[in-house]
Amino acid sequence: MGGVPRLPVRRLCVPGGWQWVFPDGEVRSVPTDQAWRLRHPEAFAPLCDRCRKRKIDRRALAQAIWGPRFAGLARWLEAARAETLPPDWDRR
Ligand SMILES: [Zn+2]
Repeated sequence: MGGVPRLPVRRLCVPGGWQWVFPDGEVRSVPTDQAWRLRHPEAFAPLCDRCRKRKIDRRALAQAIWGPRFAGLARWLEAARAETLPPDWDRR
């Protein structure tokens, strides 16, 4: 993987404060052997200490930065939670 993330419309917080995008409640049902997917870079968005404590839309921020990569991960998480992943999902 590589590539420089696209700049979001909104001004980013100071670099170095990459925070996880998904709430704990959403990832609890993900099997541990698949949880590594949620450690991909696109599962994180840059937030400073101030924004980390505020209720901001982290998903929208991640979507703005990572685009299709985040959308793909979010779709995977949704399917994993609903247990509707196709049997061959990891080979695509
Ligand atoms: Zn901030």
